[in-house]
Amino acid sequence: MSEEILINVTPPETRVAVIENGVLQELIIERSRQIGLVGNIYKGEVCRVLPGMQAAFVDIGLPRAAFLHISDLCSKELEKKRSENIEHYLHEGQPIVVQVVKDPIGTKGARLTTEISIPSRYQVYMPYANNSGVSQRIECEVERARLRACIESFRQQYDCGGFIARTAAECVEEAILFSDMTFLLKLWESILAKIATAKPKQFIHKDLPLSVRTLRDLYKEGIERVRVDSKETYHRLIEFAEVFVPEMVPVIEHYTGECPVFDIYSVEDEIQKALERKVKLKSGGHLVFDQTEAMTTVDVNTGGYVGGRNLEETIFKTNLEAAQTISRQLRLRNLGGIIIIDFIDMQSEEHKKQVLQALERNLEKDHAKTKITEVSVLGLVEMTRKRTRESLEHVLCEPCKACGGRGVLKTAESMCLEIFREIIREVRQYNVQQLLVLASNEVVEMLLDEEADMLAELEAFLGVQIKFRAEAEYNQEQYDVVLL
Ligand SMILES: [Zn+2]
Repeated sequence: MSEEILINVTPPETRVAVIENGVLQELIIERSRQIGLVGNIYKGEVCRVLPGMQAAFVDIGLPRAAFLHISDLCSKELEKKRSENIEHYLHEGQPIVVQVVKDPIGTKGARLTTEISIPSRYQVYMPYANNSGVSQRIECEVERARLRACIESFRQQYDCGGFIARTAAECVEEAILFSDMTFLLKLWESILAKIATAKPKQFIHKDLPLSVRTLRDLYKEGIERVRVDSKETYHRLIEFAEVFVPEMVPVIEHYTGECPVFDIYSVEDEIQKALERKVKLKSGGHLVFDQTEAMTTVDVNTGGYVGGRNLEETIFKTNLEAAQTISRQLRLRNLGGIIIIDFIDMQSEEHKKQVLQALERNLEKDHAKTKITEVSVLGLVEMTRKRTRESLEHVLCEPCKACGGRGVLKTAESMCLEIFREIIREVRQYNVQQLLVLASNEVVEMLLDEEADMLAELEAFLGVQIKFRAEAEYNQEQYDVVLL
């Protein structure tokens, strides 16, 4: 499988596209205005201890004080004092090194932890932790044990905090893992030096920008090319690669082609398609994605098959293609939580088994952890997908203002009748001779055309004259009845 990464950089945003065999599989967008604070390290100052809530407010120099709960204190601290009372750990005016785990939202301040963690390519370093771990995505017990042993031998040598082996650490040589851990210790030392000289309420450290994180996190063997359309970012990537992933240096390119970098492999078109409800399948069928707050449902539909010949075979093929397309779309749309797939009903048990296997196989490529939990009595496939970022739709869209997010509008006919009722109400309430109705183009057209007879009757019945004006700005559900 050939894999390629395209990076599009403009001042307001950075977009990363992961391409496999010429097809867009994953998209990560970071907008400068929305870059969060999660992962940032600050030298804070405790401004209030709240014994009733077992928490404290910490000033980290933001407009709103941040929140630190006793359960988010680092394990070393908790083990030392073995108390369940926040006052035994914190007091007002105390300087404290903290890391943001949740961005401030609305009137709520950021949420903090003192269990600092700093990621690198293969590991995450937790300077104040006593124990280590291995990513759940590495399933092989032998490999897990090897990684644990490797981390332990490093820790004995350096007497440092804990590490977590990331998924990328799987099957990586010990020497490379050691140099990664050494880098993290050095990075932590430089952070400590900053902390030592910093004033309270000061920002200390933040993670790398998306373009560089991509090299760090997405890199795996088999990436043939990384194309980036910004010279500055290109240099930054090369600098990073020279130190951490030297084998990547020759594949990183500064893209200067005439067409935009995201036009290669039609990335822009694919992004547009990933926002639509309906996804066409090559076999003639299509998928319908529906995202609600509780879950995402995916409905698989056949195209109109000509004749009944080999119906079962057509259904089987459509479902197989759907299994592949669904796993790709889940990644691309970055959907999370509960996902329910309604494949087309199949008679053959063997076909059912194969479709499920195809889905499992395709989901393996996903960076996010996925799990097929059940195939229900009705044949619905229930699965979950864990993700750390927002869905593509959430990043790029907002609920439709015209319909208030319902996805449907009242028909022009319904609106005509609603306007008639409103006219009757107004005429009964105020003694008027003339009315002006403002409505959308479609509605005014219908009133003057199909509903013209009805309108004439209404005018005669009420003894008023009704005028109309189409308002280009109005959506179909908007109208006003004005007394003249
Ligand atoms: Zn709408």
